[in-house]
Amino acid sequence: MRDETKCLHSGYTPENGGPRVMPIVQSTTYVFDSTEHIGDLFNLPNAHMYSRFSNPTVECVEKKIADLEGGVGAMCTSSGQAASLLSILNLCSSGDSFISTSTIYGGTVNLFAVTLKRFGIECIFVDADADEETIEAAFRPNTRAVFGETLANPALAVLDIEKFARIAHKHDVPLIIDNTFATPILCKPIQYGADIVVHSTSKYMDGHALQVGGVIVDSGNFNWANGKFPEFTQPDESYHGIVYTETFGNMAYIIKARMQLMRDFGAYPSANSAFLLNLGLETLPIRMKQYCENGLKVAKFFQSCDQIESVRYSALEGDPYHELAKKYLPNGSCGVVSIVIKGGREAAVKFMDGLKLASNEVHVADIRTCVLHPASATHRQLTDEQLVAAGVNPGLIRFSVGLENVEDILDDIKQSLAKM
Ligand SMILES: *Cc1c(COP(=O)(O)O)cnc(C)c1O
Repeated sequence: MRDETKCLHSGYTPENGGPRVMPIVQSTTYVFDSTEHIGDLFNLPNAHMYSRFSNPTVECVEKKIADLEGGVGAMCTSSGQAASLLSILNLCSSGDSFISTSTIYGGTVNLFAVTLKRFGIECIFVDADADEETIEAAFRPNTRAVFGETLANPALAVLDIEKFARIAHKHDVPLIIDNTFATPILCKPIQYGADIVVHSTSKYMDGHALQVGGVIVDSGNFNWANGKFPEFTQPDESYHGIVYTETFGNMAYIIKARMQLMRDFGAYPSANSAFLLNLGLETLPIRMKQYCENGLKVAKFFQSCDQIESVRYSALEGDPYHELAKKYLPNGSCGVVSIVIKGGREAAVKFMDGLKLASNEVHVADIRTCVLHPASATHRQLTDEQLVAAGVNPGLIRFSVGLENVEDILDDIKQSLAKM
């Protein structure tokens, strides 16, 4: 099946006489015939037991997303942050390190640099555009993973996924890719060698700003028995001595994440949330197409406008990431456009406050056009100098183009610029 068809049919097939639409199974627990059957589940969990870590409605969505990304399995989480966190905790313990590109979502930077550090896990940041030798110099004997973002939020840098897969695999560790902005409709990182894919489903996948969520997808391709990951190949005492690679084969990573981490942390979405996410997924391909079309028109307008200092949108010719975008995002660069307005911080705030249709909100990739000023919001704690070091110009505006008629979006931009 192709993506449009998968979005409508993967994950749930009605039984004879069953409901056409995936039902909401609103139940914390599940009933079994005997004590013995329940006992068996604690040895080999092959059925739903408790909705802290699995649920039939959420499972349908997990199967659909795994299918879209070309993975063997997926696990939904209650937020994108939970997905990033668990993707790392499934590999790293206190005393371990991992490598991440520095151009990633600000919330992830904080998680990696501050919070994980408090738990004894060190993140070593690298410049995604550095050459392979420089990046390889960041590896330590305790390095257990490499992390990057397909299309970085808010820098809009396109990651050379094949380069990072090559580097990670040379050092026998997996590559984890945050594919939130691209979605599997615009890029499938597993095709380029990523081993694990994570998403904030709160953005385009949900698509309607209805609820926060996340997902981890397992490609099934990484060899966990390469000697570097004993917790996959040695008995898990917390699960009656199960050996993940032996019992679950190429699904070892995603099943271990559920059995150990989701069991203990319980960051699982509700059935209702999964139902709403599924509605968003059904229309994802047509929405992404329109986001790309509107995004490109708005980016081109900004480029032609002399009140704007610079525009970043990888589908634009001349963008520093245009060549990489041609390879990894051949069908478009989503709806998020970064601009730097002339006049710095003050001008940015004035332009944003003058917009009437576009809303000022802490969100991105919404169905409605929205704007955010990183220097006042997500990166507020940084001084102007630190902002520049982080690649965030004080005049930078993250303009998230929605699905309104693009002429209305352009009219709104023009009227605000005219008032400057
Ligand atoms: C928003 C976002 C996250 C965090 O997801 P939440 O659902 O807000 O927890 C992670 N990565 C990227 C690229 C994001 O845009």
